[in-house]
Amino acid sequence: MNRVTLQLNKRRRKTTSWRWSFALILTPALLGGCSAERVESVDPRPSILLVVIDTLRADAVSTYGAIDGTTPAFDALASGGIVYRRAYAPSPWTLPSHASLLTGLGPDRHGVGIAGRMGLRAELATLAERLADAGYQTAGFSENPLISNLFGFEKGFEQFAARSVEDAMNEENNPGSSPFDIIDEVAAFAAKRDRERPFFVFVNLFDPHTPYLIREENRFLDPDVSAGDLWTTDDLKNAAYRICDRMPSAEELKILHGLYLGDVAESDAKLGRIEAIAREAAGEAPLIVMATADHGEHFGEHRLLSHEFSVRAPVLHIPLVVHGIPDVPAAEIDLAVALEDVPASVLDWAGVEIPPEFSGRPLPIRDSVPDRSDVDLVAVYSDATLQEPSNGEGHLTFSEDAQNLKRSNCWSRDRVYGDMVALTRWPFKLIWFENYPAELYDLSWDPAERSDLAELRPEVSGPLIEDAQRLARELGLANPNGKVETPSDAALEALKGLGYVE
Ligand SMILES: [Zn+2]
Repeated sequence: MNRVTLQLNKRRRKTTSWRWSFALILTPALLGGCSAERVESVDPRPSILLVVIDTLRADAVSTYGAIDGTTPAFDALASGGIVYRRAYAPSPWTLPSHASLLTGLGPDRHGVGIAGRMGLRAELATLAERLADAGYQTAGFSENPLISNLFGFEKGFEQFAARSVEDAMNEENNPGSSPFDIIDEVAAFAAKRDRERPFFVFVNLFDPHTPYLIREENRFLDPDVSAGDLWTTDDLKNAAYRICDRMPSAEELKILHGLYLGDVAESDAKLGRIEAIAREAAGEAPLIVMATADHGEHFGEHRLLSHEFSVRAPVLHIPLVVHGIPDVPAAEIDLAVALEDVPASVLDWAGVEIPPEFSGRPLPIRDSVPDRSDVDLVAVYSDATLQEPSNGEGHLTFSEDAQNLKRSNCWSRDRVYGDMVALTRWPFKLIWFENYPAELYDLSWDPAERSDLAELRPEVSGPLIEDAQRLARELGLANPNGKVETPSDAALEALKGLGYVE
């Protein structure tokens, strides 16, 4: 058994038992002023709201360094809750990251996004399923059309609604034109919710995802700048092609980032409204609110834009806050945590035993918890992700032309071709490339990953490279003959609609 597997097994064994003390805390609180019969009819477990803002990099949130007032709803949760300063996504794009968030498994375990697999395997139990089995009312609402029944993400939700690809595309040209209004969807659920049961509501908000919108008003742009003069809507749809030698100028990048922050603010406002609806729906019962992202976004770092061809900090470092855990004080946590830790925490709060197969384990609620520094965080980018079936025979690389056109002005030093694995063994992060030498960073003083230590610290990089290579072999990375899943026609259309495929 290799070291990575050992580390993952170690993670499995470590579960906390504080859900039991939690039950003891809640029960006297509910007893106060109530009759015994009344208490028996009320489920004391907390309701849980989990909001993912798609494509939200950590430093786009004021709590994590953006200018004050960028994300007031996110920051309000942070100020009274637990802020995870070093939270990481397991992949740079939507499907694998949501798979981890909703199964508790790392990308190496659920396989989504690797060697052509895009959908959740039917045999994997989802967080929603586990909570539904435990008596929770479950509902999911997604503005991202990929997070839907197209790829198996509705599994376990009693109620699930996702925006269609057509709506998402129309919305790009005519903001506000979509008949899918996520606030209305959540409000309709809340109005009719089953008050006998606690709820678990999952929401995906999509505004910050490319293409960014040119809004009539955008306070993140200089007043004398007309974004439309520099970037038309069509330019923005093609922004993912402006990488490496085609990188926009500093002035253009600043505007692009301003447009992105306008979209971030839009999603943050929705987060505030959805939280208020959930709070009202929960009534007197406890409500735990989690806000996070599925991945970040490049704005010129390492000569990249968007969230492809990279397992670097701009796409993996995400914000994560948890608000409302009863009797747990506000805190800032510097320990490294991963998106796949979220389901372990949610099950813990719900009083459900954490399955032994989970990669993730409950998020620490105090910074002094000592036993996480030995945990490997795994992130994977598989260049074989976008593939087209060819009548079941072989596998043409799906949109290979489009992918390669984006990279056609890149050089070897840009390291944008092939599969990539990021292995973080705090404080070091190793990036293994299929086609280039590995890189090593010390995240404790170099969070932006600027100083490659791979050759300077061979005693650190050597074992990590061996483990990453072994993991890549086990996952079938760097293997052109790997088995490729055939996506449905509708799934292909959705991927095309969102620009992953042309
Ligand atoms: Zn995404």
